[in-house]
Amino acid sequence: MDHFLYRDGTLHAEDVPLPEIARAVGTPVYVYSAATLTRHYRLFEEALSGLPNGIFYAVKANSNLAVLRLLARLGAGMDTVSAGEIMRALRAGVPGARIVFSGVGKTAEELALALDVGIRQFNVESEPELELLSRIAAARGRRAPVAIRVNPDVDARTHAKIATGKAENKFGIPLSRACEVYARAAALPGIEAVGVDVHIGSQLTDLAPFELAFRRVAELTRRLRAEGHDIRRLDLGGGLGIPYARDNAPPPLPFDYGALIRRTVGDLGCEIDIEPGRLIAGNAGILLARVIRVKQGEGRRFVILDAAMNDLIRPALYDAHHDIVPVAEPAPGAAGEIVDIVGPVCETGDTFARARPMPPLAEGDLVAFRTAGAYGAVMASEYNSRPLVPEVLVHGDQFDVVRARPSIEEMLDRDTIPGWLAESAG
Ligand SMILES: *Cc1c(COP(=O)(O)O)cnc(C)c1O
Repeated sequence: MDHFLYRDGTLHAEDVPLPEIARAVGTPVYVYSAATLTRHYRLFEEALSGLPNGIFYAVKANSNLAVLRLLARLGAGMDTVSAGEIMRALRAGVPGARIVFSGVGKTAEELALALDVGIRQFNVESEPELELLSRIAAARGRRAPVAIRVNPDVDARTHAKIATGKAENKFGIPLSRACEVYARAAALPGIEAVGVDVHIGSQLTDLAPFELAFRRVAELTRRLRAEGHDIRRLDLGGGLGIPYARDNAPPPLPFDYGALIRRTVGDLGCEIDIEPGRLIAGNAGILLARVIRVKQGEGRRFVILDAAMNDLIRPALYDAHHDIVPVAEPAPGAAGEIVDIVGPVCETGDTFARARPMPPLAEGDLVAFRTAGAYGAVMASEYNSRPLVPEVLVHGDQFDVVRARPSIEEMLDRDTIPGWLAESAG
C-alpha cells in the first residue's frame, strides 16, 4: 500500500493534492511520501522482529538527505557504496557505527575515509581489496571490521543488468574460495572478519533464489566457525522486489522474506543484517509530469511529457515498466486510447511506454509515474541540458522542496572556459 490515492477526483500524495505541488514547484518533480517510507521501513522491522537484526537502508536507491534523515530517525542504518554516500549518511545524522560500506571498486581514499569515520563494517569484494584495507587500517593501528561478500552463484531471475549473484557477475568472491579468503583475512594485521555478506540482485519477485543463497551462506558460516572464525553477523543484502504493474501478481512480502530468513539462517545465533533499498523507497515516490503536446503520428499517437529519460532512466535502461496515471481521476468507464508516452529528449530510447492504453490526455494535463521513488531521482542527469529534476517530501498535509530545481544559469555556471579560449567567438 502507498499513500498516493485519488480523493475527490484528484490524485493526492498523503493529504496534498498533486496539482498544488505542480503549481508551487513546477514539473517534472519527484514527490515522496513520508508515511509510505515509514510504513515500508516498519514492515522490515516487523519481518525480523525477535531476531537480533540491523536494517541498513541501501542509500543508492534514494539518497536525498531528507529521506535518509527520516529513515535514520526510525532507526535505520545505511548501506553505502561510495565516499559520497558515506558523507550523505553522516550529513543526515547517521553515525559511522551505523554505516556499512559495500561496493566492488572501493578506492584507497574511500577505505581511509570509512576507517576514519568509524564505519561499522566493510563488505569486502576481493582479495586485493582485503589486502589494501589491511594495510590502510594497520597503518592507523586499527583492525577493520569486515564481512566478505560471497558470490553464491544463484540465478536471481531478475533483469540481467541488476542480477549480481551469478559466477559470471563482477561481485563478490566465489564460494569455493571463501574458506581460503577467510584464512587469509585472519592472518592480516589490519582485518577482523566479523561476518559473511551476500547480495544476489535487485527486484527479485521470487523467494527461491534468496532461499538457495541463504542456505549456502548458512553452510559456509558453519564451515567457517568449524575452522575457528568468529562469524557473528550475516549481511543478507537487499533485493526484494516491488509491484511495478498493478495488474501483475504481487511479489512476496517482507513478512514472507523474514520467515524465509528465520528458516534458513535463524538458528545460527548471528545478528541478521539486511540492506533493502527499492522496497523502502520505490512505492514511496512518484514522478509528476505534465503533457506538453499530443502528436498524431502515422498509426501512432504520441503523448509528449515534460519528463524525460534524464529524469527517469529505468524504462530506457532496464525496459522497466511504470504505471502512468492521470492526476485528474478518469470517469469510470471513460473511453481510453492507445498511446506511446515519450519525453522530449533526442533519443528514441526516451520512451516511457509503448502502445499503452490510457484515458484521453490533453496538453497541460498532469500525470504521475508510480513506483518511482527508488532508482529514479538518483539516476537523473542533465542530458540535453535539462536542469536536474527537483524533489519534494510530503508529510501529512505539508510538503517541502527537499532538492530545488537548479536554474539554467546555475547549471551553466558549473562549466568554465579556459583562459586561452576566453575571447568570445566571432
Ligand atoms: C543495490 C544494493 C542493495 C539494495 O538493493 P534493492 O534491490 O534496492 O533492495 C543492497 N545491497 C547492495 C550491496 C547493493 O548493491
